[in-house]
Amino acid sequence: MLKTAQEAIVEAGKSLGLTDDKLARFLKPQHVLKHTIELNSGKKLKAYRIEHNNSRGPYKGGIRFHPDVDLDEVQALATLMSIKTAVANIPMGGGKGGVEVNPRELSELELEEISRKFVQAFVDNLGPQKDVPAPDVNTNAQIMDWMVDEYSKLTGDRTKASFTGKSLENGGSKGREAATGYGGYMVLDTIFSSSMKESGQIKLAVQGFGNVGSNFAIKSLENHPEWKLVAVSDSSATIVNESGFDVNELIEYKKAKGRFKDYKTDDVKVIATEKIIEEDADVLVLAALDGAVDESNYESVKATTILELANGPVTGEAEKKLTEKNINVIPDVLANSGGVIVSYLEWRQNLSGEQWSLDEVNNKLNSIIRSASEGVFSLSKKHSISLKQAAFRIALERLNVA
Ligand code: NAD
Repeated sequence: MLKTAQEAIVEAGKSLGLTDDKLARFLKPQHVLKHTIELNSGKKLKAYRIEHNNSRGPYKGGIRFHPDVDLDEVQALATLMSIKTAVANIPMGGGKGGVEVNPRELSELELEEISRKFVQAFVDNLGPQKDVPAPDVNTNAQIMDWMVDEYSKLTGDRTKASFTGKSLENGGSKGREAATGYGGYMVLDTIFSSSMKESGQIKLAVQGFGNVGSNFAIKSLENHPEWKLVAVSDSSATIVNESGFDVNELIEYKKAKGRFKDYKTDDVKVIATEKIIEEDADVLVLAALDGAVDESNYESVKATTILELANGPVTGEAEKKLTEKNINVIPDVLANSGGVIVSYLEWRQNLSGEQWSLDEVNNKLNSIIRSASEGVFSLSKKHSISLKQAAFRIALERLNVA
């Protein structure tokens, strides 16, 4: 993952005429923080915070709790956050953190203990003007609430701007929950309008129908009732309906803990989960996991546009081959930036002591992400390069790496 992220940066950097030295300096994180958290039970856990680049503003990026967390992964994700915040053109940098732990094996008390001890370990580096973490895999608003509380106790800071993704009652922002999916729709719609693509009866296939995939689908069909959601998958199966699914019905089904494998109605076909990428759709939306499309399966993609809502769902090699086949891959650093944009809006609300309405948050998200998308699209057209290369070039220029 780190290698792939760095290769995309080096490729964009070379095309901008950046020297190896300058690129190597940029790739090296500014701070690599490591700590062993010792729980009251005696259990020891490795914890990391990597602060990659703050030339545009405080480090920004999530903290994940997962058994596979390691330094390479955290560094890759921190580096990509520097690119993502620069593509979105928000005044924040890039960072990421993690604890190597399986949260399913923890009690609620242990989760709280880890959250507070993470803050105690890294408190000198954290803070509203220094480094502002957010939730990520297996971390949530409750964990951010514990962390912000610990930070306030240790430093006396009362702004709550030291963490984002908090609960609404505790300084969180309206609209954060749906922001990544909504933002993904706004990016797709902007790219379509910019390319003057006929947006008649667009057929969508969505891999992963969790928070991001379902919010993307809601926003898309709300704004374009003529579009059709023809296929959708979860980890159990893909379901296909050529006449198009009713999104709200699917959301109710998932809320009731239904698995798509057990979905039964006459007009719906149930197929293997990985088959979604072969579905006959115009847009394949990848909102589940990294590496979903790689060199082994990219040839079966029928869609002409892929929207990367997960992090790294198309591998570097597959992205190049798809681009050669004229399949537009809308890169994650742009497509899923809605979450970090609304995190930035939460930080701004906390610093100014305001609480904005949902409309205000969504309007701001809309204008920031549409302007980022237009910039990426127009650079890609100007130089006949992929959207991914265009996004990385824009980021490196904004980060002043030259
Ligand atoms: P989620 O847990 O709410 O949903 C994930 C969905 O993917 C579930 O429906 C699950 O069944 C499905 N899934 C898992 N494995 C699958 C497989 N092999 N094939 C098909 N579906 C599969 O997660 P989410 O918050 O919607 O996040 C989705 C992705 O987007 C993750 O990779 C996450 O890291 C990334 N992401 C999320 C945000 C955010 O704000 N939530 C921001 C940026 C990136």
